[in-house]
Amino acid sequence: MAYDSNNIFARILRGEIPCKKVHEDDHTLAFHDINPQAPVHILVIPKGAYVSMNDFSARASDAEIAGLVRAVGKVAEMAGVTADGWRMLSNIGENGHQEVPHLHIHIFGGCKLGHMLP
Ligand code: C5P
Repeated sequence: MAYDSNNIFARILRGEIPCKKVHEDDHTLAFHDINPQAPVHILVIPKGAYVSMNDFSARASDAEIAGLVRAVGKVAEMAGVTADGWRMLSNIGENGHQEVPHLHIHIFGGCKLGHMLP
């Protein structure tokens, strides 16, 4: 799938739409999900134009990949969920129910989460 540079997260990255920012660095932006599904629900996105983990894993540089993984860990730590446990999730494509076509990692925590079965 071609990247749509007007998707909502691209617009957030350009500052055209506000977000409740949690963290930002050279490679990533993290913000609170607008419709939280858990007491902690934060999205971490790469700044680069990647639709999903499909093309991120294939095209992103090692620095971008490391940056995203580090940012997810850092944001979880900042959110205070690492001691009790948390979940990271990325929906991919139609079968994965991906709504926004810019790669995002969901961080859920702050309560006992339900079992994750397809
Ligand atoms: O299904 P998918 O993983 O693509 O979900 C997109 C997520 O982006 C949803 O959890 C939705 O609440 C969130 N979102 C947001 N801010 C927006 C638009 C969507 O946090 N402006």
